[in-house]
Amino acid sequence: MELFRYGLLPWRIPLLNNISLPSWTFQDSAELYRVADWSAGHFSVSETGELQVNSLSNGNNINVSLVDIISGIRERGMEMPVLLRIENILDNSITRLNEAFAQAIEQAGYQSYYRGVFPIKVNQQCHVIEEVARFGSRYHHGLEAGSKAELLIALANIRDDDSYIVCNGYKDEEFIDLGLRACQLGVSCFFVVETPNELPRILERSRALDIEPLIGLRMKLSAKVDGHWSKDSGDRSLFGLSTTQLISIVDLLKHEGMLDRLQLLHCHLGSQITNIRNIRTGVQEACRYYADLVNEGANLGCLDLGGGLAVDYDGTRSNTCHSKNYELNEYCADIIETIMATLDPLGIKHPVIITESGRATVAHSSVLLFDCLSVTSFDPEPLPVEQPEQQHELIRNLYWVLNAITPKNLQECHNDAIYYRDEIREGFRRGDIDLRDTAKADNIFLAILQRIIQRFPEAERIPAELEGLHESLADIYYGNFSLFQSLPDSWAIDQVFPIMPVQRLNERPSRQAIIADLTCDCDGKIDRFIDGERTLAVHPLKEDEDYILGIFLVGAYQETLGDLHNLFGDTHVVSARINPDGSYDFVREIQGDSIADVLNYVEYHPQSLLERFRNTAEQAVKSGRITVAARQQMLEAFSASLRGYTYFEK
Ligand code: PLP
Repeated sequence: MELFRYGLLPWRIPLLNNISLPSWTFQDSAELYRVADWSAGHFSVSETGELQVNSLSNGNNINVSLVDIISGIRERGMEMPVLLRIENILDNSITRLNEAFAQAIEQAGYQSYYRGVFPIKVNQQCHVIEEVARFGSRYHHGLEAGSKAELLIALANIRDDDSYIVCNGYKDEEFIDLGLRACQLGVSCFFVVETPNELPRILERSRALDIEPLIGLRMKLSAKVDGHWSKDSGDRSLFGLSTTQLISIVDLLKHEGMLDRLQLLHCHLGSQITNIRNIRTGVQEACRYYADLVNEGANLGCLDLGGGLAVDYDGTRSNTCHSKNYELNEYCADIIETIMATLDPLGIKHPVIITESGRATVAHSSVLLFDCLSVTSFDPEPLPVEQPEQQHELIRNLYWVLNAITPKNLQECHNDAIYYRDEIREGFRRGDIDLRDTAKADNIFLAILQRIIQRFPEAERIPAELEGLHESLADIYYGNFSLFQSLPDSWAIDQVFPIMPVQRLNERPSRQAIIADLTCDCDGKIDRFIDGERTLAVHPLKEDEDYILGIFLVGAYQETLGDLHNLFGDTHVVSARINPDGSYDFVREIQGDSIADVLNYVEYHPQSLLERFRNTAEQAVKSGRITVAARQQMLEAFSASLRGYTYFEK
């Protein structure tokens, strides 16, 4: 691993003289891809070099190879890419969250309890919500709804009077009526007031239907948070009531004799809160509001702290925006401690603690699996042993640079190589140098860069300009997926996700690559990986053998925010459940969008497209350009394409 210090990555190591490499084991892969750091124990590398899912059943650890699961998916007629959801992981995440709060409550002697609510927007997929409701029911885990559609989903899934439904977002009359009727049914459905003009509407509908509402107020906390959404936190946060708005709402409730219906205080510091100190500060501030509202006469009983529990995407356990500097039990203990420290001296009863953890609940349970279709590498072609006598002078100069490289003149040789390469390109543009010589020069240039990298270990120091040189030589692996459909946050907010091969993990990954997707868009690439790396260690592709990469922790927000760029549609989705005996069931298989489906989404009518194509083909028959039989084959191919998968099919 010492060689990494020189920016010298594994793909270069075999090229070095006099360095014999130790054999590569599955443990080396586990360490290289930092599986233990980001997977929260849900994945590990098997001795046979395959990535496996871990599931705990009656204290026994059950492992199932992802390679086996992929074979099973293929046997059932589904090709890559596939979004694989693993039920056991979701079950485990909900259990961990609820048990961690229960434990912290018991340890601190807290005099109330915890109720989680899952924000539907984080993953609205029917099966996910059904699973959340099912696995969460033993903890009375409820749902958070931010729209009428989400409230309908919540009402259809929550059947337990002890679970909460929390309604955030703008609420019109229809939304409010629906929530009020849910209260009538005995469901604890809270309306969280986000803007002052919402309350009169709630009160009016409550009077009209003669149903008492459960009211919550969303505070705009002044506490700021670190991480990606830092500038949207504090006073500039988009949602929530200011202190003056809060006072006028309390006065209105008092005036209407409805202050007793104010039962919940809500705040949401932001998503992916990376620093535990921000959580403490936010909870402390929320408790101050809570205490003063109780003193004002509100009948508060619930403190909803919103979402924000972060996911350690890069496994660094730091407060960088892809990580978090705390563990789940620390999060729970800090919340409880802060509430007790703030409310106990004031003699205020401990509230029910609600959190709306989204990403931490579902992120780990989904993996995007895709095959690599091809690779572009930047290795030079072998150079001739003997140089031809007749050479363009600039090419001779490049050869001279190649042979002059020593550990002491790396920067100088790099400068010279760029100078001669640019001269050649200029000559090509002017028409003085032909294509063959330009290609020859490009190849020698690559050889120079590679040789410079090879000398890094011997250099006293690596010039700053050359530190990222290996990145410019990284392979491009073309993956059978769409970043915009399956990994929108990678494009939109530079979110980093753990990515690794699922097979050949007892073989040294000797290449470094970036990943390009199927869209013909220069943003459709992944060139940021965990640990701040700009390339990913991968294995050379083999002919006739699939190479599958997995992108992990994609269960939160990615499915919901994905779009149809280049008309790549939803991937196939398979939900697997691992059984205590180590077998697994495919509990749900959802076919991805067909081409006809995505065409429909953008207002084309596949049938009329077929009709138009039929007319074109018929004209061609009439004019004698094709036969009737050829016309028939074309129409069948067109129809088959309409039914086909939007991704690359083998
Ligand atoms: N609650 C509210 C009001 C939110 O706006 C969000 C998302 O930003 C969440 C909960 C979920 O946050 P997270 O996924 O970080 O837990």
